[in-house]
Amino acid sequence: MAKPELNAILIQRVLLGPELFVWRVAPDGWELPPFEPGQFAVMGLPGSAPRYPGSAPDKKPVEPDKFIQRAYSIASSPKRRDEMEFYIALVRDGVLTPRMFGLKTGDRVWLSPKISGQFTLTDVPSQANLILVCTGTGLAPYISMLETYLPWDGKRRIAVFHGIRESQDLGYRLELETMQRLSPNFSYFPIVSRPHLEKVPWKGELGHVQDLWKRRALDKTWGFHPTKDNTHVFLCGAPGMIQDFQKLLEAEGFKEHTRKEPGQIHIEKYW
Ligand SMILES: Cc1cc2nc3c(=O)[nH]c(=O)nc-3n(C[C@H](O)[C@H](O)[C@H](O)COP(=O)(O)OP(=O)(O)OC[C@H]3O[C@@H](n4cnc5c(N)ncnc54)[C@H](O)[C@@H]3O)c2cc1C
Repeated sequence: MAKPELNAILIQRVLLGPELFVWRVAPDGWELPPFEPGQFAVMGLPGSAPRYPGSAPDKKPVEPDKFIQRAYSIASSPKRRDEMEFYIALVRDGVLTPRMFGLKTGDRVWLSPKISGQFTLTDVPSQANLILVCTGTGLAPYISMLETYLPWDGKRRIAVFHGIRESQDLGYRLELETMQRLSPNFSYFPIVSRPHLEKVPWKGELGHVQDLWKRRALDKTWGFHPTKDNTHVFLCGAPGMIQDFQKLLEAEGFKEHTRKEPGQIHIEKYW
């Protein structure tokens, strides 16, 4: 790809874990397009951008004038017109994220003016309950949905299942715990898969997000079992989790949603 102009400015960089960061990016001299919560943008940097010193070297040499671009779910609401927020994991031997990790506020980046994706609530009936399942930074599109639509009206119930290795990786935990306290229809289930890494014992759920479904964690909270007739399930992040969770849902009659053949399972794979 021809090298595009770095058309946006990093205005805030916050670490939410040792290798997890939130970026707030503002367009420089152009308007952000409208978008639906759940959609993604593309960001990019030239190969000449330096890698963060703590990262592994490039696996294959990257030409300085090669333009590197990757997709990122937008974590902020479209109601925020001046900036976009992204929740990003540093992949130490990756190509782009080690270059992003070293940038400082005021540095420039390329942000696609085109927004894409169908991982949205557009096709979901307004009365359907929602289970928003993710691993790691797969939480990002849900933060946009929650920020946009809270306080949720009506009787719809919403649950977030967030799978992480250790609790220090629970980005947006305070926001989600606060939503849970303030909104009786909203439930937050963080689940830790490597409790031996915890600095103090983790008292919450242990295992993977699939275990929350197998344990019927929502039946007690909601007072009923979510079925294809009353609930839509969103799956975002690592492909292995998505495949396993999808199988569990399909065994209970849920079906993947496409525009042509409506169903109740919505999928966004990060790789
Ligand atoms: C629609 C879409 C939306 C995405 N949104 C996000 C987002 O909001 N936040 C985000 O961090 N990433 C997101 N990604 C992944 C992102 O596009 C990049 O793949 C990721 O940042 C790694 O880029 P890289 O060049 O550093 O690594 P690459 O050199 O491209 O290496 C890719 C490898 O990195 C690993 N990897 C990729 N993404 C992640 C991740 N999120 N967490 C842990 N390991 C990962 C996988 O092993 C993958 O095979 C999204 C991907 C898609 C397709």
